[in-house]
Amino acid sequence: MSGKLGSTASGSFTIVGTPIGNLGDLSARAQAALSAADVIYCEDTRITGKLCNHFGIKTPCRAYHEHNAEALRPRILEALEAGQNLALVSDAGMPLISDPGYKLVQAVIAEGLEPQVVPGPTAATTALVLAGLPSDRFMFAGFLPPKSGARRKALAELAQVPGSLIFYEGPSRLAAMLADAAEALGDRPAAVSRELTKLYEETRRGHLSTLAQHYQEQGAPKGEIVVLIGPPFDDPGPSEENLDAMLRRALAENSLKDAVAYVTNVSGTKKKLVYERALKIKDENR
Ligand code: SAM
Repeated sequence: MSGKLGSTASGSFTIVGTPIGNLGDLSARAQAALSAADVIYCEDTRITGKLCNHFGIKTPCRAYHEHNAEALRPRILEALEAGQNLALVSDAGMPLISDPGYKLVQAVIAEGLEPQVVPGPTAATTALVLAGLPSDRFMFAGFLPPKSGARRKALAELAQVPGSLIFYEGPSRLAAMLADAAEALGDRPAAVSRELTKLYEETRRGHLSTLAQHYQEQGAPKGEIVVLIGPPFDDPGPSEENLDAMLRRALAENSLKDAVAYVTNVSGTKKKLVYERALKIKDENR
C-alpha cells in the first residue's frame, strides 16, 4: 500500500447499499455506518435525506453525481486525509451498479486507502434469483442503448455469452427491447421483473417473443424494470433457410461485412459459411 491515506490518521470510506424499494431492507450495519459517518455522499440529497429521516440518521448528506464528480473528488480525498469518515450511497441499491462511484472508489484506492463496504440489495441479482433461469453464470449488461440500431448491435455482441443476461430497462422501451432481443438472440426463455420489493412487485416469465407481444398489447408497464434472458440454446444453429432470411434482413440495412459479422454473432454459425451464403444472396439479387 502506498500514498498519503494509508496512515492511521486517515478517515474511512464506506460504500453502503440501500433498499431498492422496501425500507425494511436497510440493514442494521448500513444504519450504523450511515449514523457513524461524518458525511454521506449521495446522488440526490432529497432522496437520501428521506431515507435518513425515516431511520433517525442525523448525518449531513452531500450530492455526488456525474455533473460535479470531477470537481468534488479531490475535495473528498482531502476530507479523508483530514480524518473524516465518509459514506457513499446511491438513490437505491448498490452504489456503482449502474450508478456513480466507480471513479471515486478508484481514486480512494489510488490514494492508498482501503474502501469498506456494507452490502445491500441490487435489482440485478434480486431479479436473477426470481427468474427461474440458470444462475450459475450470468452477465449484468446494465442499460442498452435507447435507439434500436445501436441496441441490436449491442445485443448481437452478447449473443454468444454462455450464461444468463441481465439488463435494466425503462417502461417505454421494454416492448421494443424484448422484440430486438428476440431477433438478435433467438427466442430464448426470459423474465421481466418490475417493482421488486415494492407493493406492486411482479415477475412475468415466458419467451422473448411472447413477452414482447404482451407488452406491445398491454402498453408500457409502470415502475422500475429488470429484464432477464436465458443463455444461448444448445442447438445446432439455424437452418439454412433461417440463416438466409436473417442475412437478407441484415443485408437490406448493412454492408456485406457488417451483415456477415452481425449474423455470425447472432446465429453462432461459422463466419466462412455465413460469408458464402451472403455472397450467394448478393449474386441472386444482381
Ligand atoms: N444501483 C441500483 C441497483 O443496485 O440495482 C440500480 C440503479 S439504476 C440507475 C436504476 C435501474 O435499476 C432502474 O431503472 C431499474 O431498471 C433497476 N431497478 C432499481 N430498483 C428496482 C426495483 N425495485 N425493481 C426493478 N428494477 C429496479
